Amino acid sequence: MGKFVFNDLAQLPMGSKLFYRIWISFFLVAVACRALPSKSDVPQGIIRNNAIYAIKNVNIIPMTLKNEVIYNATVVIRDNRIESINGQIPAGVEVIQGKGKWLVPGFIDMHVHVPTDFYVGTKLPTQDASVFFDTQDLVTPYVANGVTTIFNLNASFGSFSQRNAIARGNVIGPRMALAALIDGGQGIGRKVNTATDGRQAVRSAKAEGYEFIKVYSGLNVETYKAIIDEAHAQGLKTIGHIPDAFQGKLKQAFVPYYGMVAHAEEFTKHSKDFSEEDAQRFAILAKENGTWLTPTLTALSWISSQVRSIDELRTSPTLQYVHPLLQSKWLTANNYHQDTTSERRDYFKKMVDFNKKLVRAFKLAGVPIVTGTDTGVSGVVAGFSLHHEMEQLVEAGLTPEEVLSSATRLPAIWLGLESEIGTVEKGKRADLVLLDSNPLEDVKNARRISGVVVNGQWIDKSSISKMLSELSKRNTAAKDKYDWNKLMGK
Ligand SMILES: [Zn+2]
Repeated sequence: MGKFVFNDLAQLPMGSKLFYRIWISFFLVAVACRALPSKSDVPQGIIRNNAIYAIKNVNIIPMTLKNEVIYNATVVIRDNRIESINGQIPAGVEVIQGKGKWLVPGFIDMHVHVPTDFYVGTKLPTQDASVFFDTQDLVTPYVANGVTTIFNLNASFGSFSQRNAIARGNVIGPRMALAALIDGGQGIGRKVNTATDGRQAVRSAKAEGYEFIKVYSGLNVETYKAIIDEAHAQGLKTIGHIPDAFQGKLKQAFVPYYGMVAHAEEFTKHSKDFSEEDAQRFAILAKENGTWLTPTLTALSWISSQVRSIDELRTSPTLQYVHPLLQSKWLTANNYHQDTTSERRDYFKKMVDFNKKLVRAFKLAGVPIVTGTDTGVSGVVAGFSLHHEMEQLVEAGLTPEEVLSSATRLPAIWLGLESEIGTVEKGKRADLVLLDSNPLEDVKNARRISGVVVNGQWIDKSSISKMLSELSKRNTAAKDKYDWNKLMGK
């Protein structure tokens, strides 16, 4: 097989030496041009976002700063927005009974990778893709889990097509924030090694339509600083890794406008003993610089699990919702489960514990923490992983209310979308999750989803179950068609 080209770091673990790199390329996604479905096309249990409807007798957890629960309230949704809270229900509209249920803002996953179509082989002019992903199938697990906004940290041309397919109404999916990844070193993709090239890469990314910049591990010190400075000048926020070049001089990485560290794991490389003191030192660096944290605890815990064995992954109940090609890759070409020694297992276990220590220290220092999963890393399944992340954050020492803020209001603020999403308030976009139990009592209750409103579209529990079971069936039926090793010519 010829040169392998992949457009996305999606399934590729990031953030340390373990993480291998892969070429990035652009490609085209063929999307059928279909008109918006007419009302009769819409299955029962789904209300389209051009409708008016109400949720009645529901307990609202608004997730505003004050966050006073509004009991037994009525919410009217019109044209993708919350029209009123405790206002009049317009005559004749559909009413969803919310008695005894809890309404929270849609959840936000601040670190995902969504695969896009790619090709394998030698690149020719007019090259099209050879492996395709159905956008609905990729995003159904987000919707099913109440994740209504995602932040793609290595977006490509295909990501814009996915976003537009959702906007057009062909796909029910989350809103997407898209970051362009910039790295150092050689190869295809945005690879820059001078300050001048770094600044140009930022301007090009902006011109191509990206809204955020992700800095990556291979950047040198000067280029990294220039990228962050230029991104700010261009009105783009920066998130990312701490480049390896800052080994031994971590403080220097905290330049103005370095907006967010994309993994708690980024700090582990700068601690010899994983001590409390180091955790506090790192937290102060972030706090003083105004840099936020996306811990991605679930990703590291999955990686640690696979370093031990891939049995947990193999038997994971959510694996069925992953595209069969990726299932094949995760199970038969698993990078983490190689050269496994007891030292390596111990190291990962210690790293998992240290990450939780970091979260506690960052919380105490007052660094805003947001939920992100690194969906796409093997084991980390879209949507389901956000709940695992929330539970891990509680284990690390956040209260359920803090975790819910980390999954709603805070990421909305970081993304600059606080006037649109992140709280349940009049005038905001209708991104909502209806829960059977109170998540402030136990964050696990956030899994007990009775229905989801994504950009104004209501999807009830039975529709969610149906979408998931059909996805699972399709993935299982297609399993024989996808063999990662064969595709890679191994
Ligand atoms: Zn990532």
